[in-house]
Amino acid sequence: MLKKVFIKTFGCQMNEYDSNRIYESISKIGYEKTDNMSKANCYILNTCHIRDKAKEKVYHEIGRVKKNFKLKNKPIVIVAGCVAQAENNEMVKREPYIDIVIGPQSYHKINDSILKYLQKKEKDQQTDFDSILKFNYFDEIKNENTKISSFLTIQEGCDKFCKFCVVPYTRGPESSRSFYKIIKEAKQLIKNGSKEITLLGQNVNAYLYKENNKSFRLSDLIMALDDFSELKRIRYTTSHPIDMTDDLIECYSKSKKLVPFLHLPIQSGSNKILKLMNRNHTVEYYLSIYEKLKKINSEIELSSDFIIAYPGETRKDFEDTIKLIKKIKFINSFSFIFSPRPGTAASNLKLIQEDVAKERLKLVQKELFLNQNLKNKMIEKKIINVLVENKMKNQEKFFGRSEHMTGVIIDGKKSIKGKIVPVLIESSNQNNLFGTLKLNNSIRAA
Ligand code: SF4
Repeated sequence: MLKKVFIKTFGCQMNEYDSNRIYESISKIGYEKTDNMSKANCYILNTCHIRDKAKEKVYHEIGRVKKNFKLKNKPIVIVAGCVAQAENNEMVKREPYIDIVIGPQSYHKINDSILKYLQKKEKDQQTDFDSILKFNYFDEIKNENTKISSFLTIQEGCDKFCKFCVVPYTRGPESSRSFYKIIKEAKQLIKNGSKEITLLGQNVNAYLYKENNKSFRLSDLIMALDDFSELKRIRYTTSHPIDMTDDLIECYSKSKKLVPFLHLPIQSGSNKILKLMNRNHTVEYYLSIYEKLKKINSEIELSSDFIIAYPGETRKDFEDTIKLIKKIKFINSFSFIFSPRPGTAASNLKLIQEDVAKERLKLVQKELFLNQNLKNKMIEKKIINVLVENKMKNQEKFFGRSEHMTGVIIDGKKSIKGKIVPVLIESSNQNNLFGTLKLNNSIRAA
C-alpha cells in the first residue's frame, strides 16, 4: 500500500521548518506527501501553543479529521508541536482517535513511533527534552527544501521565563546546534536554490555553540553565511533585546547580506510592566539598541510584538507604550490583548476589564497601522530591490519581498523567480507594495 502523509501546520516559522524536517524523516520509511487529506494514511497536526484556546483548536481539528475518515480506513493520527508537549498523555485520554503524541524535542523518534504503531498498533507519547539528540539525528538527513527563501533552525528553547510565555515549558531550555552542521545545511539549501536564509530560534540571538575551546555566536554564523556568493539575503528571528550584543549589532555594518530589518519584541513601553513580565530589560535599554542600529545604518527598520492590558497595566503604562510606538515608528508589529496561558506564572493574575483592554488594543493598532501605511506610502514612486519568491497562481504577477519584509506584488511576464530585481513601486496599502519591474534604473532607489 502506498504510504501517504498529510501534514497540517499551525503557528510560527519554526513549526514550518519542523514540519518539513518531519516529512524528510518519515519519507525514509516510505511516506510521500499529499495535499489531499482524504488520501492520507498518516495525518500529522503540528500544533502551536502561543495563541488563545490552542488546546481546543487541536481537538476541534481532530474532530474534523474523524468526520472526514468516518467511512474510510482510519489514518495514523499524530499530534506534534507545542500543544502535544504541554498536554502529553492527556491528549490520548481525551481523544482516543489520536495515536501518537510527540513534542518538538522528540521528533528524532517519530519514525520509531510510527513503525511501532504499524506493527503492534501500540500508541506512543514522546515528550522528553532531547534537543541535542534531535539535532544530531536531523543533521544526518538532507534538507530537501527548494524554496527561494528558506528557514534554518539554529537554536531552540528559552531560559528567560517571561511570565506570560509557554515556550520554556514546551520547547525546553536554550540549546544551540553545531556551527559546522548549520553551515553544512545552509550550503545544501543554497545548492537547492535558496537565495535568502532566515536563521530561526525561540531566542535566536542567544545562540552559543562551543567546540574545541572555540565559541560561536549568531554574529559568527552571519559572517560565515556572508561569504556564500549565491546567497543574497540573511535574516534571523526571534530575538530578545538582552541578547543584542555589540558583535551582533556590528554585523549590520560588516555584513553585505544581512537585511536592514529586525524583529525585536519589546511587549510594553512601560518599565513597570516589563518588570512584572520578567523581561529583564528596560525601555531605555531597548532604545539604546535602536539608536546603535540607526547609527550604523539609518535604513534599519524594527518590528515588534506588543501585549496589551497585561495584568497591572494602568492608563499611564499604556500611554508609555503609545509613546514608544510614536518614537520608534515600527515598520510592522503584532499586537494582542493579554490572554493567560495555563501553566505560566501569569496564568492566575487578575485580568484587566475586557472593554478597557479592547479599547487599548484598538488605539495601539491605530498607531501601528498609521506608521505601517505611512512607511509604505513613502516608498511610492521609488525603486526598491525585491527578492522574487514565486509566480502568483493564475496571474501574470509575481510575489516578492522588500529588504524590510514587506510583500511586493510585481506585474510582469518575464521569468524573474529567484532574482533580486529593481521594482518601481506605484501604489501601496497597509500590508503590500505594488509595482512594476524597472530594469532601466532612471529613478533613485529607495
Ligand atoms: S524570551 Fe521569548 S520565548 Fe522566552 S519566555 Fe520570553 S517571550 Fe517566551
